[in-house]
Amino acid sequence: MKAVLPLFIFVDACGWEIIKDDPFCGDLAPNRKRLSSVFGYSSACVPSILSGRWPMEHRNWSYFVYDPVRSPFRSLRFFRWLPSFVTSRRVFRRWLTKFVKVQLGFRGYFDLYNIPFRHIALFDFTEKKSPLRAGGMNRGPNIFDALEERGISYHVSAPEKTELENLASLIADIETEEIDFAFLYWAGLDGLLHRVGNQSKEVPCKLREYERWIDQLLAVSKKHYEEVRLYVFSDHGMASCEELLDLRARIDSLGLRMSEDYVVVYDSTMARFWYFNERARRLITDALREIPQGRIVPDSELLELRALFTDRYFGETIFLVKEGVLIVPSHMGEKPIRGMHGYHPEEKHSFAALLTNQRTIPDEVKAIPDIFQLMVRDAELAKNLNLGGPREFSACAGGSKPLVCRG
Ligand SMILES: [Zn+2]
Repeated sequence: MKAVLPLFIFVDACGWEIIKDDPFCGDLAPNRKRLSSVFGYSSACVPSILSGRWPMEHRNWSYFVYDPVRSPFRSLRFFRWLPSFVTSRRVFRRWLTKFVKVQLGFRGYFDLYNIPFRHIALFDFTEKKSPLRAGGMNRGPNIFDALEERGISYHVSAPEKTELENLASLIADIETEEIDFAFLYWAGLDGLLHRVGNQSKEVPCKLREYERWIDQLLAVSKKHYEEVRLYVFSDHGMASCEELLDLRARIDSLGLRMSEDYVVVYDSTMARFWYFNERARRLITDALREIPQGRIVPDSELLELRALFTDRYFGETIFLVKEGVLIVPSHMGEKPIRGMHGYHPEEKHSFAALLTNQRTIPDEVKAIPDIFQLMVRDAELAKNLNLGGPREFSACAGGSKPLVCRG
């Protein structure tokens, strides 16, 4: 039997608005707090949680960027000769995504999404490594680097496995009593919310399922660890999509040539532009200013959001739509979906949540990157206590309950 297991359970898209009026984990983790999210998609939020830093510091932000020199996708241009009823089919894209991921040795999440093959060689993919592994950030260390540096043994989920496989794999590691820290990642709720929106009855059903799994996990943990410090948290919430915006049609109508006058990546809630002449810059920015469903995010605001890239690596103009608007078709999808995230962090459904069985959550934990400091604090505490070190009153425990001396 070991002393302490810090158990960090990351439930993707389990936002504050999703759980605020739901008893989710009320018995297991009754202390809950609304956290600010990070501007961007999971590609920005997850690395921010794992590193305790913000996009402009770690440079994990949006997946596709204009970078023809470094594009690994040149060979895929061949597919532009295939008819689009084949190449735009999701099943074909999924098969090709798997093939390309292996060929290019990408270790993180990868999806070709809906990027047209005639333009694919213009782009590079920015998450070639997995942020869920040591050395996986584009810049700087993450929690797994910190744990390895301190010699703390840990468990982390493998995103390619199913939720239940990841649960089983963590339970197996807990039973060995060899770990002093656990990070479990569940992505099922995110997928469900994208598919059904945030009002479906399937959402509370999924939350009940998570509760059963967490119950199971805690029952096993308590046989092997005297104390389980449980944290259930998310990266963002999910808004229901109520309005579709065909931004591509507006930009196409300007008569400019993609790849000669400008390049764009249409994300689901953002469009990012690079320009090759002043006329294109003027026509596009003027057109964007006429669109009531969104706005160009100024540099001053990007800086406040800590997502300003002065080298314009992720785009020279960042156009962002209002919550509930979905850009369709986009390079992320040809067809509408019911739920989306990646809106401004101040929008209602962007906020994330942190739930814990700890009596207090430190005041300085306000945004999702701050979860990192809880992970480091508890991992150090667990390592020390699991080696038989004394429990003590700890200032770094952020005023949580006085720890009892094990003597
Ligand atoms: Zn998502």
